[in-house]
Amino acid sequence: MTDTILETERLTREFGGFLAVDGVNLRVKAGDIHALIGPNGAGKTTCFNLLTSFLPPTRGRIRFKGRDITGMKPAMVARLGLVRSFQISAVFPHLTALENVRLALQRARGANFDFWRSERTLTVYDDRARELLFDVGLSGFADAVVADLSYGLKRALEIATTLALDPEMMLLDEPTAGMAHGDVDRIVQLIARIRAKRTILMVEHNLSVVEGLCDRITVLTRGRVLAEGDYATVSKNPEVIAAYLGT
Ligand code: ADP
Repeated sequence: MTDTILETERLTREFGGFLAVDGVNLRVKAGDIHALIGPNGAGKTTCFNLLTSFLPPTRGRIRFKGRDITGMKPAMVARLGLVRSFQISAVFPHLTALENVRLALQRARGANFDFWRSERTLTVYDDRARELLFDVGLSGFADAVVADLSYGLKRALEIATTLALDPEMMLLDEPTAGMAHGDVDRIVQLIARIRAKRTILMVEHNLSVVEGLCDRITVLTRGRVLAEGDYATVSKNPEVIAAYLGT
């Protein structure tokens, strides 16, 4: 299918004989916001680690934009346009929000250290960095030291540093976890804006966020796909309800 951006074929990962991910066939459509949900221990994080090559699969294949990326180095996968938010972003707490985004832009362009230190570099990325801060709702915090930002604003900054890489597809690991209500709304609006240009696969526990944002949902339990479809379909599935209620 030409509109598939990411696809796995019987993706499997064992840990000492235990199947954390067990023959998962996942297909993400370009332009979709796709959720990966499931109870704790279902294998969601392991899936993310496999998709971004932070872990090698025991068996199975992964294709991104039609290309087999199984076993590729994580940096290469990122360069191809598949980027996971928190790992790449490494936000520096003692720098300002603007400095963090500027650094991310420099890294994305492969700037070396000498370039990084040059006078010109200090300003050359500012316009784009300020645009990105604006996009994530942090315009007013450009000169704030990151350590002083609220948790929700730090997560928004992480997304800005990921967007600096201009990825075609972003993997977001629980983007609203631990957030106060207002911050959840801000991140939801941000993700809705990102989708205009990018595909998103997100692990999310907050089902109202999933319902509001996601086009397609894959439910995992015990390493396997239990159900797949839109929210209306998946949320009525008795097996999904049972898995969530733990019965
Ligand atoms: P989820 O993100 O859905 O909560 P995980 O992918 O973190 O699930 O974990 C799936 C299962 O694999 C769990 O039972 C977990 O204990 C196990 N697991 C994850 N990583 C490792 C590891 N490095 N070594 C051994 N077991 C692991």
